Amino acid sequence: EAGIADVDPQIAGLLDAELGRQHAGLEMIASENFVPKAVLQAQGSVLTNKYAEGYPGRRYYGGCEFVDQVEELAIHRAMDLFGSEYANVQPHSGAQANAAVYQALAKPGDTILGLALDHGGHLTHGTRMNFSGRYYHAETYTVNPQTFLIDPDLVRQRALETHPTVIIGGWSAYPRVEDFKALREVADEVGAKLWVDMAHFAGLVAAGLHPSPVPYAQVVSSTAHKTLGGPRSGFILARKEYAKALNSAVFPGQQGGPLMHVIAAKAVAFKLAAGSDFKDRMARTLEGARIIADRLNAPDLQAQGIRVLTGGTDVHLVMVDLRDSEMTGKDAEDLLASIGITVNRNTVPFDPRPANVSSGLRIGTAALATRGFGAAEYEQVADIIAQGLIAGRGADVDALKARVDSLVQDFPLYQGLDQVS
Ligand code: PLP
Repeated sequence: EAGIADVDPQIAGLLDAELGRQHAGLEMIASENFVPKAVLQAQGSVLTNKYAEGYPGRRYYGGCEFVDQVEELAIHRAMDLFGSEYANVQPHSGAQANAAVYQALAKPGDTILGLALDHGGHLTHGTRMNFSGRYYHAETYTVNPQTFLIDPDLVRQRALETHPTVIIGGWSAYPRVEDFKALREVADEVGAKLWVDMAHFAGLVAAGLHPSPVPYAQVVSSTAHKTLGGPRSGFILARKEYAKALNSAVFPGQQGGPLMHVIAAKAVAFKLAAGSDFKDRMARTLEGARIIADRLNAPDLQAQGIRVLTGGTDVHLVMVDLRDSEMTGKDAEDLLASIGITVNRNTVPFDPRPANVSSGLRIGTAALATRGFGAAEYEQVADIIAQGLIAGRGADVDALKARVDSLVQDFPLYQGLDQVS
């Protein structure tokens, strides 16, 4: 049977081009990663053909004997990996997992309390343009204006003012670890449920290198594709008593047929995340972020008004604070793109610039750790970024790009995988 190169050379060409792009640059978007070949194989498998509405043993379609086993494996691996009493592996994405959590824990119009988007929260944590801010009464907490840390006392103050049904922990752009125990105490005090969205740091939790929200939150949601390094998708963990509400919120509440090929890929990713290689990857991820934070917080950058938010990092990302620099987040993102480093601009708390320009950069280390980078390579990456930001418009783009090129050549990506064309 004809392959994609014959059937659709245009798409095949674009797949090749994207593989080339991924190989040629330094991927430092904090929410991205490179999935292992085994995950690609599961996701590109015949399971894409199967309808399986319902749950294992309780399907609305025949022929589910094998996909039932796949889903059971994924569920049990997720529960074992994170030590939870319940898992739902069907959400198609992080946003859909979150929609199901709302449906299970709150009614439309109820008050929800999450970290403000411009302080590092996610769209689905109550932003006005998202369903979460349209169907629920969304209130926000901010980071502490002195420390830029999530401060349980401030969360408590906002919770006492707003009486939320649900308090949301977790973030998309925050460089530190939250105190889940303290957040749960706040939730208990005001009669709210604590839900933590660990999408960004799930891999670090799986490796035992970040505190787990599972013992404290009634519900934990996540994506599988950020630090965890699995397929693009979501999953939910919870206490047993929420199982029924969450299951029916995912299906039929939010979704139809589960993506069984993606669930198989999630099962593979959970298996890999339980291994020692994964722990080593997560350790290198953290080490790389610390190396970059140290370099970008050094006096030569501070002299130009460039600093690292909170002075460092505990996780896989560094937030660069450009509020006192002439360079905007957009300028810095474009400059790094021109030397082959992909990052994204981001607002920082109390950002004076509009969001589409912003005064921050979010730099993540998970994808490069998957590629094999260790301390020596991160030192080089840190220096390349530092030299670029210091020089700004005057940067020697060709020289910096040459340093990026020589780094990536030592770490080939998906070798032997150019089966596309
Ligand atoms: N939750 C958090 C904290 C995120 O950072 C993201 C993605 O950026 C999501 C949820 C949404 O995930 P998805 O893009 O899979 O819908």
